[in-house]
Amino acid sequence: MDLDKTLLRKVGEAIARFRMIRDGDRVAVALSGGKDSLTLLEALVRLQKKAPVEFAVCAFTVEQGKFLRPIQPLGEWLLGRGIQWTCFRDNPSLGLLVEQPDHGCDLCSRFRRRAVYEIARGLGANVIAFGHTADDFCEAFLRNALFTGRLSALPAVTYSRQKEFRLIRPLVYVSEQVTGAFAGRLGAPVIPCGCSQRTGTLRQSLRGFFAGLERDYPHLKENMLSAMGNIEPQRLLDPRYLDPELPEEPASGPLPPIVTGS
Ligand code: SF4
Repeated sequence: MDLDKTLLRKVGEAIARFRMIRDGDRVAVALSGGKDSLTLLEALVRLQKKAPVEFAVCAFTVEQGKFLRPIQPLGEWLLGRGIQWTCFRDNPSLGLLVEQPDHGCDLCSRFRRRAVYEIARGLGANVIAFGHTADDFCEAFLRNALFTGRLSALPAVTYSRQKEFRLIRPLVYVSEQVTGAFAGRLGAPVIPCGCSQRTGTLRQSLRGFFAGLERDYPHLKENMLSAMGNIEPQRLLDPRYLDPELPEEPASGPLPPIVTGS
């Protein structure tokens, strides 16, 4: 597999399909310190040079007190590549660690979202890019279907309230197999977050579930991504999308899978 080509093709496909980036945009990439967002940043920097539209790219990180190592080496690495990077120590999040050490992801994410908007505003960005991968979309899809009673995953493109920022996830078709290999080759310092080391979470159960099935069905996630883009509302149970007057139609044949791994 040509890793660079695969990555740029998949990211380019997502950007074009969902009109994620438009002429004159200033895109701020949310760097979590992990392999996915670093891969996203590098892909956008490379695509910027050959895209049919002009856009600017910068990067930022929210320090919420969860990194296992100092984040500064990441800044030095980015500086060496000429990428503008802002590291923002979010004091309310740091306070949360003291006041409610057992806080869950909901509270943490809410604090992070507020900080993200504040930083993006300061950077003059109108687009914020997140490093959620194909694996994240599939896990969210399964989690929502099994535990929240909704058929949904993550928005590939959406807006913040008041439409101040366009929020995009250009790695929707890129697997973590690709981001892991690409980030490894980049040689960027990956800074682990303490939370990602925890075990026993629902996320880990879902990952184990996928890993078990993927041993026999390696294209499982590609098919799930195809399914998310190929809805048959007449065969679901939401009356908002049903027309009971329509005659029954045979199920449409499968679409060619979106290949994420190669
Ligand atoms: S995994 Fe950790 S850093 Fe991520 S939202 Fe949950 S508490 Fe916050």
